[in-house]
Amino acid sequence: METRRPTIPAAEEILGGYFPVLDHGFVSLVDYMGSDEDVERAARVSYGAGTRKVSQTRGLIRYLRRHRHTTPSEMVELKFHCAMPMFVARQWIRHRTASVNELSARYSLMPLLFYTPDLEHFQLQSRSNNQGREGGAPPEVYRAAVERWEAIRRQAGESYGWMLEEDIAREIARIDLPLSTYTQWYWKIDLHNLLHFLSLRVDERAQWEIRQFAGVIAGMVKRVAPLSYEAWVDYDLEGRPLTRGERAVLSRLLVADDTGVHARDGASATADELKALGLSPREVRELREKLQGPGYPDFELDLSAMRTAEDVAKEMYEAVPESFE
Ligand SMILES: Cc1cc2nc3c(=O)[nH]c(=O)nc-3n(C[C@H](O)[C@H](O)[C@H](O)COP(=O)(O)OP(=O)(O)OC[C@H]3O[C@@H](n4cnc5c(N)ncnc54)[C@H](O)[C@@H]3O)c2cc1C
Repeated sequence: METRRPTIPAAEEILGGYFPVLDHGFVSLVDYMGSDEDVERAARVSYGAGTRKVSQTRGLIRYLRRHRHTTPSEMVELKFHCAMPMFVARQWIRHRTASVNELSARYSLMPLLFYTPDLEHFQLQSRSNNQGREGGAPPEVYRAAVERWEAIRRQAGESYGWMLEEDIAREIARIDLPLSTYTQWYWKIDLHNLLHFLSLRVDERAQWEIRQFAGVIAGMVKRVAPLSYEAWVDYDLEGRPLTRGERAVLSRLLVADDTGVHARDGASATADELKALGLSPREVRELREKLQGPGYPDFELDLSAMRTAEDVAKEMYEAVPESFE
């Protein structure tokens, strides 16, 4: 039967496909409801599909996002099937505005799949950011770390399998599986809250691992609702709100009138002047960052990497402790 529901060819192309993330993770777009046109329809509370031009829809969506009229984008929903290491899940679950069903390790056998960072991302503690990493770690330290990870995981996996063989309840057998173990969930969220999630989780201040998931999801949003995605990149991801102090600095340097925006002759904002305008050293640093040119991120999905559900399911089944397949 032909559907009367709005469908988007670019989203249909990837629907149900599995995109690998990290060494054993994935994101799959399981379903979606609505697209850019539905954001407009909700905003106008209009009757069914109209005859609006794409440029009109784009203009409205950009206006709504600039002025934070967010409820129309709550009318679009996306549902994902994802697998990620538990430490990533722990960061991800903090986003409370989604509906989640996680694989129950009380009920199901856990696939013994563990995340191993590659050498490039096995870095040293950042000196400037307590929540970050920087620089390369010595390869011999990496090799030793991999050996230790393997030993811990072998032991954790063996203990898990042994307890299952002894008929110990799954909910107890699983308690010492490490945070690197992959878990899975179904995750459904509306477009507004998804874009908020992406703003926080594609940002370079987020941990690299969760950023990899967010990047793939951003690529999916780009297919489901390209105009909303574009407005998000322009106004949220690459936009920066100006503080009162920052506006004071810019209005000292620039004049904006009907002829355009011009530099004021001889105007400057030296370190002392910035201080006098009330900016702390950290705010000055942040202003410098804001005034750097924007990036042009492009979260394009690699379609050649897309796997089938059967292929992914096979990998998961093969990773449960052997005698329990
Ligand atoms: C780089 C980074 C580092 C972080 N570090 C830490 C850390 O060290 N420790 C830590 O505990 N967390 C940390 N977090 C998690 C962070 O504090 C947030 O919990 C997480 O990002 C979810 O953000 P959110 O609440 O805006 O999102 P959501 O939960 O998706 O909520 C979306 C929006 O809905 C509204 N909302 C939702 N629920 C409520 C509510 N109950 N009351 C009022 N408004 C609500 C808010 O406006 C919120 O912004 C970190 C997050 C990031 C991105």
